[in-house]
Amino acid sequence: MSEPKKYRITTHGCQMNEHDSERIAGLLEADGYVPTDSDDDADVIVLNTCCIRENADNKLYGALGNLKARKTENPDVQLVVGGCLAQKDREMIQQRAGHVDVVFGTHNVHRATELMKLAKEGGPVTEIWEEAALDEAEAFPSALPAKRDTDYGAWLTIQIGCDNSCAFCIVPSVRGKEISRPVDDIVAEAQGLADQGVVEITLLGQNVNSYGRDLAIAARAAGDADVRLRPMFGDLLRQIGDIDGIRRVRYTSPHPKDMTPDVFAAMAETPTVVPHLHFPLQSGSDNVLKAMHRGYTGERYLEKLAQARETIDDLAVTTDIIVGFPGETEDDFERTLEVAAAAEFDNAYTFVFSPRGGTEAAEMVDQFCDPEQVKDRFARLRTVIERSAIAKHRARVGRVEEVVVEGPSKKNPDVLTGRTQQNKLVHFASEPLRIGTFANVRVTDSAMQYLLGELVEVTAKPRHKTKIPLLNG
Ligand code: SF4
Repeated sequence: MSEPKKYRITTHGCQMNEHDSERIAGLLEADGYVPTDSDDDADVIVLNTCCIRENADNKLYGALGNLKARKTENPDVQLVVGGCLAQKDREMIQQRAGHVDVVFGTHNVHRATELMKLAKEGGPVTEIWEEAALDEAEAFPSALPAKRDTDYGAWLTIQIGCDNSCAFCIVPSVRGKEISRPVDDIVAEAQGLADQGVVEITLLGQNVNSYGRDLAIAARAAGDADVRLRPMFGDLLRQIGDIDGIRRVRYTSPHPKDMTPDVFAAMAETPTVVPHLHFPLQSGSDNVLKAMHRGYTGERYLEKLAQARETIDDLAVTTDIIVGFPGETEDDFERTLEVAAAAEFDNAYTFVFSPRGGTEAAEMVDQFCDPEQVKDRFARLRTVIERSAIAKHRARVGRVEEVVVEGPSKKNPDVLTGRTQQNKLVHFASEPLRIGTFANVRVTDSAMQYLLGELVEVTAKPRHKTKIPLLNG
């Protein structure tokens, strides 16, 4: 019997891309391919790109340059480029790297293996659709087979694209307009995942809490006069959270401007929806928020956050903040510090502004901030973030938290690593436990990025089938 062909996928960027890669892997495995973790013995090498990160293009063309030797040595190897950068650069990729076999865009993920076959027969192919196909099965990566990294948790795409126009963001131009997936399809997929033993679902979208607005508008246009023109995200959380077998529901990312009390109420009422809110602030200054087109003020953000904390018990809050957006003055930055301090975040992803080609902010060259000043501001912001992060973690010492086991700790294989409902990492001493086990852990110590603890008791065994039990060490 001949050896099965092998594939390797390298993924850059956000969970959307990770999820697209799962689907590409699923399509390849449906065609008989098996995974490998080395480009050297792969028959298909897929680079799933992201154009949000700095120097993304240099990195892509660097990686493609390195792969040229592999292609020369074995011309049957197929080089495939997908993702946001492919959507943006289109034909240019094959112009700059003529050894690439297939380039496909963010709306063409479902066509990946088809395009590879076409390229085998007729030479290099580039296929970029401007918009998602109207056929639901083609538009949503979740509707395709998938090869997931973990058996107990799964991503579920509820919406693609984004109707906002944040000045720093390339997403609307590479992912297209917002399209919500019908509720019944999402619930059916979640039910199917639960039937396979998945216990944790993360709902994915660029702007999840505006979910359903387009569906309501379409229903109204089709003559349903009773339909209320409002997002349906709260209802969706309740429905997914009520599915038998699902123990945790997460979501990312929401937009503060679209956040409604109903979403907080749904989180509070549905015990399976975890008390963790990732709530991207971006800046605390009203001037900067306006220039970014974010649609809220620092004060409004804090009001919504206070509402969230009043409604949801023991809520952990994380955020994203950009330092040095074009035109940011010292006063603007001081306001960001004030809002960040008042928000008392559990943690924050902090970024130094860097222009992304194709965005409005990249054109604001005459307002770019002085890099030395930005460096200083970044350090000051980190101090504020770390102060609240340390305090939040310290406050958890002595408590018993439920964690889901992710595996042995990377640094010390004698202890296990798990994640709490609030999405905090806990390293804890324990007997060997399988990945996906739920356990109560007593928190004994804390650091800024993690908690330390000891096993109290196992609360639920994994429901998915795993052939090889995971042991410590
Ligand atoms: S909401 Fe803003 S930051 Fe988020 S994807 Fe849409 S444009 Fe980008």
